[in-house]
Amino acid sequence: MSASGLQSLYIYMYPRKGNANWLITMNKRLYIIKFISVSFIMLLLISGVFDIMSVRSLSALGDLGEPRNAYDQGMAGILKGDIVVLSLFVNTPSDKWTVHEMNETLPKLQTATDYLTKQAGDYKVDVSFNYDWSKDRKLRYRAIADFETDDKDFTDKLDELIGSLVNGRINYDDILSSYGADGIFMMVYFNAPDRSYAIAYDGEDIPQETVIMFNDGDAAEYAHEILHVFGAHDFYDGEEYTDDVVKFIKKKYPDDIMLDTVMKKDEISNSIGPVTAYHIGWTDETKEFKEYDQLLR
Ligand SMILES: [Zn+2]
Repeated sequence: MSASGLQSLYIYMYPRKGNANWLITMNKRLYIIKFISVSFIMLLLISGVFDIMSVRSLSALGDLGEPRNAYDQGMAGILKGDIVVLSLFVNTPSDKWTVHEMNETLPKLQTATDYLTKQAGDYKVDVSFNYDWSKDRKLRYRAIADFETDDKDFTDKLDELIGSLVNGRINYDDILSSYGADGIFMMVYFNAPDRSYAIAYDGEDIPQETVIMFNDGDAAEYAHEILHVFGAHDFYDGEEYTDDVVKFIKKKYPDDIMLDTVMKKDEISNSIGPVTAYHIGWTDETKEFKEYDQLLR
């Protein structure tokens, strides 16, 4: 998916105590590129970074084969009908958004939501997204964070910031009813490159769901993360499912967007296969994957 031809790696992070469901997509392309282009000392340094990452992800992982269910929970609801997409641009002390840079996120959000609408149509499901804050400024918010994206407690601090906003000036209930929509979630943008992830509600903590996007995320990653708040699961190795299930998905649905994200030119070239479609409520279960209990909602 990248110009370098290297595959992205993804890390799924399970919730820390009391938190919402943290689904973390991590793109390590940059680290890999550094690996092959720098000196041995740099390599040691970077492998130190890998150590920290693997400790974080290992300690955060739940049991394989027991994915937590975010389907039809939280305020995103089911991926059907009219969905309101809020956009929150967060300035950190080092990384502030310009108007021009904020505008650059809109085509990606458009490509992602158009893709989801079209894919839904293939399953005879109607979905439309109200996301265009350039036409409706009530859909756009700004906030200031007093922490950086590389802060070691970034996710906790951001969790706190989002909690204060959605319990304050960004009232999902009021917005949902004023638009007469069926579901609502918020894209939270940072103007720095980093891992993107979704905070999907699985019955604990706050139901106001969010997608955390960094400025290097492409439209396919937007769509992948958005699907998480509607109940989609990661299919890649060692994240949510046991090896036999991962193997089955890879063989049967190799281009599913929850397995890997691929852009060709400016289009998303992944499909939403029947398992992901079932996870988000577009289809009923089919007998071909009934033998894998883990895949049931
Ligand atoms: Zn994911």
